[in-house]
Amino acid sequence: MFRFVIQSLALLILCFSTGYIFKANGLNFYIGAITGGAIQFVFNYIYETIFNAAVALQNKKLENERIKEFTMQGIEVQCPCSRKIKDFVPIILNTSNKYKCKECQKLISVYITPSTALTTEPILDTDTVNPSIISDAQ
Ligand SMILES: [Zn+2]
Repeated sequence: MFRFVIQSLALLILCFSTGYIFKANGLNFYIGAITGGAIQFVFNYIYETIFNAAVALQNKKLENERIKEFTMQGIEVQCPCSRKIKDFVPIILNTSNKYKCKECQKLISVYITPSTALTTEPILDTDTVNPSIISDAQ
């Protein structure tokens, strides 16, 4: 609402200004006012087009960065050299993973050893978690 009022006032001021400029130069006031309004609409259209294109471009860049972050999977590893430098290395499971240590400049291979564990589910509805059992025993 406030923005609409400000825009309407700006449009009126521009129309009257161009009208007075036309009148001062011996031309018709109303033709000047209409010309000023038309010029304002043209500039507003150009501004909105450029602004929307910039916003769309920025959103696309952010989306691309987000997708890049999702595709990047890695682990923090430690170089076997004496300095034990830690580094975050991207991991691709279907290839051999290697990286160059940033300190010793040696090529390091990363081996991934999978391990398994039995998945259990907590049993919540038994007598042992019922507080009345504990109070009865006391
Ligand atoms: Zn190293």
